[in-house]
This record gives sequence, C-alpha cells and structure tokens, in this order.
Amino acid sequence: MSIDVHTSPLSGERGQAIAAAIRQRLVSADQPVVGLIDLNGLRRAAAELHAAFGFPDVEVRHTFAVKAAALVPVLRHLWHAGIGAEVASPGELAIARAAGISAGHTVLDSPAKTEAELREALELGIAVNADNPQELSRIDALVRRAPAVGPVGVRVNAQVGAGSIGAMSTATATSKFGIALRDEGAEEWLVEAFLKRPWLTRLHTHTGSQGIPLALMAEGVAAVHALAEKINAAAGRRQITVLDIGGGLPVNFSSDVMTPTFRDYAQTLRAVVPGLFDGRYGIVTEFGRSLAAKQGVVLARVEYTKSAGGRAIAVTHAGAQVATRTVFAPESWPLRVEAWDASGRPREGTAVPQDIAGPCCFAGDLVARERPLPLLEQGDLVALLDTGAYYFSTHFAYNSLPRPAVYGYTADETSVRFEILRRPQTLDELVAESGG
Ligand SMILES: *Cc1c(COP(=O)(O)O)cnc(C)c1O
Repeated sequence: MSIDVHTSPLSGERGQAIAAAIRQRLVSADQPVVGLIDLNGLRRAAAELHAAFGFPDVEVRHTFAVKAAALVPVLRHLWHAGIGAEVASPGELAIARAAGISAGHTVLDSPAKTEAELREALELGIAVNADNPQELSRIDALVRRAPAVGPVGVRVNAQVGAGSIGAMSTATATSKFGIALRDEGAEEWLVEAFLKRPWLTRLHTHTGSQGIPLALMAEGVAAVHALAEKINAAAGRRQITVLDIGGGLPVNFSSDVMTPTFRDYAQTLRAVVPGLFDGRYGIVTEFGRSLAAKQGVVLARVEYTKSAGGRAIAVTHAGAQVATRTVFAPESWPLRVEAWDASGRPREGTAVPQDIAGPCCFAGDLVARERPLPLLEQGDLVALLDTGAYYFSTHFAYNSLPRPAVYGYTADETSVRFEILRRPQTLDELVAESGG
C-alpha cells in the first residue's frame, strides 16, 4: 500500500483539531499521548450508513462492533445516531448498557459465551447468535426453562475463503467461527436444527475484517441468504426473518478518501443478492472499523530525536500500547503519520526517511519505518491518522504504560470544541490494577 504524504495537514476539521489540541496543550509532558475522535465525523458516518441501506420496505438495524472503539461516550454518540451495539464479551455488553443502548438493538456474538452470559442475554432480550452445536444445546436447555425474550440465530461460516490478512479472515475452511457451511453434512444438519427449533429465527455471517474484497463479503451473504431460503422452504413458513450480515467493510488507510463506501457495499449486495432487499428479511449489520477508523487520531510528543547507522529516529510516546497491530504486523496495518511542531503548525521542510518509534522497550516498537517526513525535532508531535477504531481504544498494557486520555472534538471553520471521552489512567489506578 502506498502512503499519501502530500495533502496539507492543516486542511479540514482534523487539521484544525490537531492544531487546537497542540495549542491548548492537551498533549503535554504529563500526558504525552492522547486520542482524538471527530464527533461530527462519527455522526456523518452513521448517516451515510443509514442512507446506503435505506431500501424501501426493508427493516435494517445497524449495530456497532463494540471492540472497534469500546468507549461509552462513543457508543452513546452512535446510539443517538441510530446505531446499536454488537458485543462479544460481558465487558462489551456492560459498556453498551452503560451507553444506554437498548437490548433490542444489541447483538451478542462470541465464540466462547458462558452459560451465565447466555442466560443473561436471553433474559434481557438481546439477540444471540449461537456459534456452534454445543452452544445451541446449551441454549436449548435455557429455552426449555424460560423462552428467550429476544431473537436467537446461528452463525454460519460460509467458507468463501480468505482476504489479504489471514488473521482477520473468518470465512476460511478452518476458521474458528460459526458452523462451517460447506463441511460434509453441515447444511442438512443446519436445516434440521432449525426445523427442530421453531424459536430459531436468524442466520448470521461475518466474512472478516479489513482486507476482504466486497465481492467475497457479498458471496458470504449470498450463501447465508440461500441457506435461509432453503430452511424457510423446508419449514413451509417464514421461520428465518432476519439475516445478520456482520461488518467488515474495509477502510482505506492510505488517504482521506473513504473507499469503498457503505453505498458501494450496499450496491454490490443488491447486485449479488437481490433477494436480500425484497422485504422478506430484516437485516442486521455490525460495522466497526468503517464507522470509526477515519474519525480518530493519535497525537504524541516526540521526546527525543537521534540517529543510528545513518537512520533518523524520532522516539515518540505512541507505540505498541496504542498502535498494537501496526507495530506487530506493519505490512498489514500501515498508518499515515503527520509531523507537527510544538506551536501547532505542520512541520515543513524536505522529507527525510525516519523511523517513528514508540516508548516500549523492544526494538520492533516502530509505528513507521523509513517514512519520508520533514525532519522531526525534539518537542514536535506526530499524528497517526485513521486510528479511531482498534487503536487507542484497544490498549495494550506493555511496559505498564497507562491508557491515554481520549477527547472528542467538534470542529468548524472558526472553532474547535473538545470534550473528554476517557480520562487518562492515573498511576494510582495502574498500580491498583496491577495488584497493588
Ligand atoms: C469484529 C467483528 C465485526 C466488526 O468488524 P469490522 O471489520 O470492524 O467492521 C462485526 N461482527 C463480528 C462478529 C466481529 O467479530
């Protein structure tokens, strides 16, 4: 992937917000790294999603994959924009509930739900997608005691194959998720499982996250739609009423352009699976990265600059603790980096290849290698773009580095307003969490 380094950092709401954050000293010696989230951007992304899937006569419920940005105020903003929550652990469910998201707009997926989690979800009326036959047996026992308040479905692995990032591809032949549809006897087993359980009303699929081409995602949805048709025909009634198509719309990390768009995906689905939109099925979506990635920035101080073996190195406060995937799998997760000076101006000058290093004590803690940027100086700042999903919201506690503060911003041409979304973790909290 080529990285675009030519757009003016100051242009647009993000540039205004970075400049204001620097001038207002949101980043300081005490707080050398922060996360910023564009709240207007979140609302715009939600509105684009609603518009893209706004087909007449089709009931669509959008949920946000909480793991992409597990911050209560972010979920609350999305909820006010009509987006519920997809949760995959008791912690994520608690965060979604704290954000005020109703059970009817919450979906529980996870390959390892405990009996207690299942019981709670079924009682609350949260939609549950069973991952495997053993889980379905567990749900059988719970439903015998008390009927589920909310809908129950089954997650299917359509086994349509991998995208460009193996670790993110959930529809491979041997993926750990869902019931493998193309395994021998699986389809017959699924049809039978639904016929035996009139309360099973949904099918779920999620082909993967990032690196999955739209056509492959659509193929996964088509397989699940075909299965729903088969089950409904066998049942002689419309037993399956909702198809949950997961998330996974990839994000373009190399420029500010959002591509593909929600509309691109909806149009691809319409071409490949026209029956999805004929009004006979409700639809649930679970997008994460595509709603939040472009709304976030990590802003970090350059503590020192140095040179080693002819390589210019900027030692910053943003490393594996906030950009874990980029540090450990740099080929799959390249990030754009901007250079800013301490007065809140984009740093100018000839681009020089530099390593942008983090604070962690291992050699590979680099968020960019040999990146051409104006030569950074001590006290400058680096901005890591497109980090609103799975970055500062997914802290990695290496070196006991504290979780940084996250600010939401609302920017227009004349002003930028910040609000705290997550306080920085204090050292006392860190010690307490570490058994102190
Ligand atoms: C992670 C995940 C999502 C969200 O994926 P994105 O790539 O962030 O859109 C949706 N559904 C399930 C089941 C997931 O595991």
